[in-house]
Amino acid sequence: MEKVDVIVVGGGLAGLSCAYELADSGMTVLVLERGDFSGSKNVTGGRIYLRPILPYLPDIWEQAPFERHVAKEVFTAMGKTNSTTFELYSDRFNQEPYPSYTILRAKFDRWFADLVTEKGGFVIPQKTVDDLIKENGKVIGVKSGDEEIGADCVVAADGILSFLTEKAGLRKPFEPKHFALGFKEVIQLDSKTIEDRFRLGEGEGSAQLFFGSVTQGMMGGGFLYTNKDSLSLGLVIGLQSLNLREPREEVYKLLDQFKERPEIRNLIRGGETVEYSSHLITEGGIHNIPKLHTDGMLVVGDAASLSLNMLFTVRGMEYAMVSGVLAARTIKKAKGRNDFSASSLAEYEKLLNESFIIKEMNTFKNTLRVLENERLFTKYPQVICDLFEKVMWVDENPKEGVYKTKMAELKKEFFNVETLKDWWQFRKI
Ligand SMILES: Cc1cc2nc3c(=O)[nH]c(=O)nc-3n(C[C@H](O)[C@H](O)[C@H](O)COP(=O)(O)OP(=O)(O)OC[C@H]3O[C@@H](n4cnc5c(N)ncnc54)[C@H](O)[C@@H]3O)c2cc1C
Repeated sequence: MEKVDVIVVGGGLAGLSCAYELADSGMTVLVLERGDFSGSKNVTGGRIYLRPILPYLPDIWEQAPFERHVAKEVFTAMGKTNSTTFELYSDRFNQEPYPSYTILRAKFDRWFADLVTEKGGFVIPQKTVDDLIKENGKVIGVKSGDEEIGADCVVAADGILSFLTEKAGLRKPFEPKHFALGFKEVIQLDSKTIEDRFRLGEGEGSAQLFFGSVTQGMMGGGFLYTNKDSLSLGLVIGLQSLNLREPREEVYKLLDQFKERPEIRNLIRGGETVEYSSHLITEGGIHNIPKLHTDGMLVVGDAASLSLNMLFTVRGMEYAMVSGVLAARTIKKAKGRNDFSASSLAEYEKLLNESFIIKEMNTFKNTLRVLENERLFTKYPQVICDLFEKVMWVDENPKEGVYKTKMAELKKEFFNVETLKDWWQFRKI
């Protein structure tokens, strides 16, 4: 059997970061990616935060194919026939190094794979790993078709449904409530039109999240990110909510309905859909993390369920990249000891625990419980929109005083036991 030092299964951001960190270490590193190229099978909504990654990967960003830096944050509560928007435009978001950027994975991962290759790693596309090879319980390589390749260490970077983690016996069976389904279109539009419609300066971008009737009462929300000359528009809906929905509905119809809303229709007008993708996203947070190491193997990125819905943003790409780097650092040390046993590789979990990843996942450990509250997607956005609409409404009748009448409604809707309970839950985030 041919043998290398390290096999990374999956050429997404987690696998490529691990390979990049290892590529000039004198070890032979092989990234096996089932897609036609890195980025071809990878889906994200669209925003990566740079500052958390910079201490781990400081030198690679000059030529990075970012789309736009996010200068404007937008939250939209959607009622059935109305919506209201809260916007934050900040100088702080407009200063280099910019805190976050929109990206398109097809470009971004491909660029990163080239960096890995330039540094001495081998990225092999169109190569699906079918199984692990074990000897006396220790992982010693992988099978791909008829081929067997041995390695001192295998890194499972094979994404959210990681079958390698399952084969290695590292994780419990999945539960639908720990996942959501994301589906998204990339809609081409020229950059001047984007800047005019979204009221952005040259090169600036916006990140917009939607909650409320957009998911028709199901757990989840919508997103709209501006790229250089396209928009990323999509929905994320909890699998449990989708399964329980009666009557069942094809999810693509929900995205079509979202696009029909005037708030969206006017923003995407004249644009052409050039990409459609769909992917699972983990919602389980820290409760869903499998065991992350065993003899001869480490687990990184989505394969390790390192992703988080923070309500106001989604984190996954930084966690993927930094966990990849931490796995690589662990492997370098293990190589120094020539010991790839579980106890030697356990250092990876220590590094992860000390990093911002596990600290944040601990802080947001109750997010899923809060998200399970249907009122967040039905009652509250609707009430906010209706109240605002009533304040703004003028007709042939004398206008009522704003405070007196609307305060009574506000009290009725929000000062009750139900809302207090919800607020109590919310405090835990
Ligand atoms: C709709 C949606 C919106 C999101 N929005 C955001 C966001 O705005 N910001 C953010 O930070 N995160 C976001 N995320 C999460 C983020 O995209 C993921 O956390 C991130 O992509 C994880 O990277 P990864 O490298 O671990 O996994 P992936 O990118 O999934 O890479 C896994 C790779 O493994 C390959 N592979 C799988 N099985 C095999 C096999 N057997 N053999 C060989 N190769 C294999 C796949 O082809 C793939 O390339 C979003 C996710 C979704 C779905």
